Amino acid sequence: MALKLFNTLTRKKETFKPLKDRQVKLYTCGPTVYDYAHIGNMRAYVWEDLLRRVLEFNKFKVTHVMNITDVGHLTSDQDTGEDKMEVGAKREHKSAWEIAEFYTKEFIKDIEKLHILKPHIAPKATDHIQEQIELIKILEKKGHTYIISDGVYFDTSKLKDYGKLARLNVEGLKAGARVEMAEGKRNPTDFALWKFSPKDQHRQMEWGSPWGTGFPGWHIECSAMSMKYLGTTFDIHTGGVDHIPVHHTNEIAQSEAATGKKFVNYWLHCNHLIVDGEKMSKSLGNFYRLKDITDRNYKPIHLRYFYTNSNYRSQLNFTFKGLDSAKKTVEGLFDFVRKLKDIQGNKDNPKVSALIKKFRKQFLVGIDDDLNFPKALASMFDFIRTANKLIAQNKISRKNAETIIKLMIEVDNILGLGFIDLIEEKREMPKEVLDLIRKRESARKLGDFATADDIRNEIRDRFNIVIEDTKDGLKWRFA
Ligand SMILES: [Zn+2]
Repeated sequence: MALKLFNTLTRKKETFKPLKDRQVKLYTCGPTVYDYAHIGNMRAYVWEDLLRRVLEFNKFKVTHVMNITDVGHLTSDQDTGEDKMEVGAKREHKSAWEIAEFYTKEFIKDIEKLHILKPHIAPKATDHIQEQIELIKILEKKGHTYIISDGVYFDTSKLKDYGKLARLNVEGLKAGARVEMAEGKRNPTDFALWKFSPKDQHRQMEWGSPWGTGFPGWHIECSAMSMKYLGTTFDIHTGGVDHIPVHHTNEIAQSEAATGKKFVNYWLHCNHLIVDGEKMSKSLGNFYRLKDITDRNYKPIHLRYFYTNSNYRSQLNFTFKGLDSAKKTVEGLFDFVRKLKDIQGNKDNPKVSALIKKFRKQFLVGIDDDLNFPKALASMFDFIRTANKLIAQNKISRKNAETIIKLMIEVDNILGLGFIDLIEEKREMPKEVLDLIRKRESARKLGDFATADDIRNEIRDRFNIVIEDTKDGLKWRFA
């Protein structure tokens, strides 16, 4: 079995092969931190997390970089409009820097709640201004840039393969050019590498450059930071489908023009989330962020599961009915694991290991088929249905149950729902035991290990609780 991924560049499902051994260099476009992320953004972040977990499950060693856009992202993709950071600053009467700091923290809190693994490196655009300037200098030297009144632009007409990712019809675009194009721009697809600050005023975020005071264009940060941390050619770059025609297209153009090498081997894109069949928008009142979901008594993992049980390349229609069903399923899964914890039988069922083997195989076939989670999850529910029947008939031993729990933990390493927490969940510990543990701790501190051992034995004999001293502190479980 090999992992297959759909590559937007070739429009084909391809067997995934990293550049070097089992190492994977992964770059995912991160948030623009001028407002809360909404549940549409979160779909992509959860999917990227699933991708990383599937790679790791396949024994790849992943280096994951996700940028934080804290400058340069304008309200329009045409290099016009306001900087989103300044929009946020105006809205909240704060500085752009305060806005960036606040929403970065909020974003991190949200992704933690959704059990999204932290990227290994999360570089901020404002911490990498020099790298972006250096990259623009290379492009200038190679003749790919021109300067107009509002900034330094990339000349897309010099590239033979501009727009290959989106399969853009560049001639068609010229004919239908939008009127809001910045004055002096030579081609509608040209884009800003560096924008000048207005002549008569200071921006909150601006820097000196060889071309004048200003700030970087949005696309250049992703090229500069991904290549800095992952190399000039790396394995996987992801984002939402809305990034294909402009942001990712321009990342490819400027990176490949600068290095003369292929920028990225696999481009993966997650489709949109819509709400009740419509585009999410504040004016329609169907605009939700994670807090709106948890305020309605759903857990973040219910939303996570709702995203997971979908094909990432299709639009996903969010409804509260759908979320209810995800909630029910997740709680059912937790009940299943809880039930397994309580099984006491000692007659092993030889069928169990064959069932586990079959399920493991089917699950892997699903996830390795371009992250086909609906398929993988269907095999999981087949397995659970059979296991539940055996449990109801008392045909499962404690040992069988433990192997199934182990399997569920393995599956959860991918799903990220948190079975592990449940398994380590503290059952009520009698107060007497707590007192004894305290007594034992003081004995240990005094070096009286004989007494400490006696107390440990007492706890085991009287309460059936095993305590262990580990490097992470004291652990306990029912024997
Ligand atoms: Zn990006």
